[in-house]
Amino acid sequence: MAEKTPEIPRVVPRNLGGILVFLARYPWRVAACVGLLMAIIAIDLTLPQILGDAITQLRWHSEWGAEVDPMVYVQVFGALILVRTGVAWILGPSRNRLVQQTLADIRTSLYDALQRLAFRYHDNSNTGELVSRSTADVARLQNFFFACLFLSFDIFVSLIGTVFLIFQVSSLMGLITLGTMIPTIALIVFFAGKLQPKWRKVHDLHGAMITVIQENIAGVRVVKAFSKENEEVGKFERKREAFMRTMTETVNFWAARVPIAQFIFGWTLPLVLWMGGRQVISGEVRIGDLAKVVFYLMAIGHRVGMIGQFTNILQNASASAERILEIIDEPRTIRSGRLALPPGPGAVRFEQVGFSYGEDKVSLEDVSFDAEPGKRYAVVGPTGSGKTTLVNMIPRFYDVSKGRVLVDGLDVRDLSLGNLRRVVSVIFQETFLFSATVAENIAYGRPEADRAAIEECARAAQADEFIRELEQGYDTVIGERGVTLSGGQKQRIAIARAFLMDPRILILDDATSSVDSQTERLIQEAMWRLSVGRTTFIIAHRYSTVQHADQILVMRGGRIVEQGTNAELTARGGFYCELFGPQLEENAETRVRSQR
Ligand code: ADP
Repeated sequence: MAEKTPEIPRVVPRNLGGILVFLARYPWRVAACVGLLMAIIAIDLTLPQILGDAITQLRWHSEWGAEVDPMVYVQVFGALILVRTGVAWILGPSRNRLVQQTLADIRTSLYDALQRLAFRYHDNSNTGELVSRSTADVARLQNFFFACLFLSFDIFVSLIGTVFLIFQVSSLMGLITLGTMIPTIALIVFFAGKLQPKWRKVHDLHGAMITVIQENIAGVRVVKAFSKENEEVGKFERKREAFMRTMTETVNFWAARVPIAQFIFGWTLPLVLWMGGRQVISGEVRIGDLAKVVFYLMAIGHRVGMIGQFTNILQNASASAERILEIIDEPRTIRSGRLALPPGPGAVRFEQVGFSYGEDKVSLEDVSFDAEPGKRYAVVGPTGSGKTTLVNMIPRFYDVSKGRVLVDGLDVRDLSLGNLRRVVSVIFQETFLFSATVAENIAYGRPEADRAAIEECARAAQADEFIRELEQGYDTVIGERGVTLSGGQKQRIAIARAFLMDPRILILDDATSSVDSQTERLIQEAMWRLSVGRTTFIIAHRYSTVQHADQILVMRGGRIVEQGTNAELTARGGFYCELFGPQLEENAETRVRSQR
């Protein structure tokens, strides 16, 4: 059995803390930004000191005629403003670069995770939701990074610095400030705790709304075919309504609570004026020092007001961070093995394989067989008997729950995933083409392939002719979701793709029912040619495909119930004959007629 890779325990929280870890990749840039920010805060804290000292000097001058030159203060003040401007001038671009880089890293991690998520994850999530997380949630983080990250640091340090300086002037005024500031912040934190789940709900509703949009775009033909436009618009309206209502409630919740918190802090200045005024009258405190405290309080009053705003952005972004990290941290259920697959003929072996998608239902049970290299295996059985599930085990779209699958003697779970998927090509029932040129679509698995190789594969896939008829031949850009090509044409592009990969093992879904018989013949010929010399599994629905297979695996209820050649299975008269009964008879009649 392959050894399971242990899960790496997560130490980083699934909220903004987890997002800030991305910043830690650039410690020097962060240090530089913090240093510059500290310099600005220091200057901001010095300015009221200068003003207070100037007022004290002026008072001494007006009362006792002391020598005072206001120009000195003006010059120091002016110089500090100049330095502050210079520092801010350097800080802005450095901070932007850091933030942009970090956001780019988050986007890359998210995209990387989306690409690596197992089929099982995608089975349970919908595209619109994933799109919403990769776009809107990332945008909210961007908002947080630009509007909040350094601002919150600034507010935090400034508040501590200010309180410390007020205490230097007068412990009483310091205590008054703390006495109003602490309940204010505590109240904001309390309200903020209620805010984050509200934002999470808003974002989830946004995801649901985007899902409706995405499904409508992807399924526009079905909507029109059933003339369901009005219902779909109605569905969207309901989702939009729920999203807007919840968002308005959330915004209003916050808007109604911030003034309550600010009301408490609003008492600081009158209290300081009252108590501080008495201290000035009694001679304990100089008037200039009282002025300093007033200037400080006005400055932090502004910052306390901002706490309300940034907490809103913070909680909003925190909910988004959670949604993004849920994807980035989703455990990799299908982990790559370490072995590279050595050259080999492409033998496949199933050993007592069992598999279930969920807890309750078994989709494969005790499946064992040996597939010889280069032979064609038709997998037949009623719908839901486990044909697709069986072949999905080979490229590890899902991992077996029991037993093992071997390719050329090696457990697929031990092989490097990239390696495994290069030697196993799958042609799905539905071919997805990217918005790129025909040539690029064919070379999707081997972008380095030259044009001659691409054209050769297209010829082998019976696709060359129709590609040349396109306006720009191989350089024609395919419309989104391949709308400009027919189903049969798309399937031939998929066959050309597989030819170019030159796989050892091939998995084909022989569902060509939607094409005309001429196209069907072309596709079958192309698939047949592609399968020469490769171990091939064909999920077959038609007797015409099945009868030529080297071996037929007959499935029923997740088990292989019969196995053999067409002649053997026909002679046996078992489930195979039940499945293909009418077609077998038709075929026998044709044979008899042709012998006459
Ligand atoms: P076939 O290809 O023969 O039609 P499948 O392999 O698709 O059969 O399905 C086998 C069983 O597994 C069926 O009962 C089907 O409902 C179930 N099944 C298939 N795919 C999934 C999935 N992604 N999630 C849950 N159950 C699934």
